[in-house]
Amino acid sequence: MLKINQLVKKYDDNLVLNGVSGDVEAGQVIVVIGPSGGGKSTLLRCLNRLEEPTGGQILFEGTDLMTLSEKELDQIRTKMGMVFQNFNLFPNLTVMDNLRLAPQKVKKESAAEATKQAEALLERVGLSEKADAYVNQLSGGQKQRIAIARALAMSPDVLLFDEPTSALDPEMVGEVLKVMQDLAQEGMTMVVVTHEMGFAREVADEVWFMADSQIVEKGTPEELFDHPQEPRTQQFLAQVL
Ligand code: ATP
Ligand code: MG
Repeated sequence: MLKINQLVKKYDDNLVLNGVSGDVEAGQVIVVIGPSGGGKSTLLRCLNRLEEPTGGQILFEGTDLMTLSEKELDQIRTKMGMVFQNFNLFPNLTVMDNLRLAPQKVKKESAAEATKQAEALLERVGLSEKADAYVNQLSGGQKQRIAIARALAMSPDVLLFDEPTSALDPEMVGEVLKVMQDLAQEGMTMVVVTHEMGFAREVADEVWFMADSQIVEKGTPEELFDHPQEPRTQQFLAQVL
């Protein structure tokens, strides 16, 4: 579904992605872990050219994203949902309007269609009773579940998560991870940057360890957590596990 080939990103002289490659198959969950500043967020933002790569190739469902115009990219981006640490919801809109906005504007759904779909998504993330609440009346965990529902409203083929639980109080982390785990079980293709090692171990098909602008090591959770091969991976895991 997604092929990343020798991706390079420089900020001035700072090489932030130094030839990163990887494959994401349909239905797979890839979890990206690694130390701060290693390039995880940059990789994620380069995948839909939210950040412009300096070099390399990204193939999404067979299309080379580097060759696309801005207009063509917008089309593709609707297929790649993103969920950020800080929710990025519209605070002055109700939950329902947050969920209906893009489907109506971008996908030209009717109000009735968009409403029906939003109701189904709210049920899926366990927040049906919050349809008419404003975003600033929600807890952090609820906001993030709504942000996931909003991403799903565009019927994406892949969801990209950048530390979706990092800004949450500890007691709200579980409810968000549960929604993500349910999505994984339903076969959603996901790339998840997270520090939640329990989630990585349980839900990932493959874990990518990123440090110093590269993917140092890839493997199944068992391979990576129980038998890391690279000293850099071993050192990182010794600190976080
Ligand atoms: P964290 O775990 O702290 O989120 P990360 O692995 O996501 O870290 P990135 O945010 O991708 O790391 O940053 C990688 C490097 O790129 C860092 O050295 C950072 O300072 C640099 N960087 C990121 N964004 C920019 C930018 N817009 N301009 C200049 N440098 C940047
Ligand atoms: Mg980051």
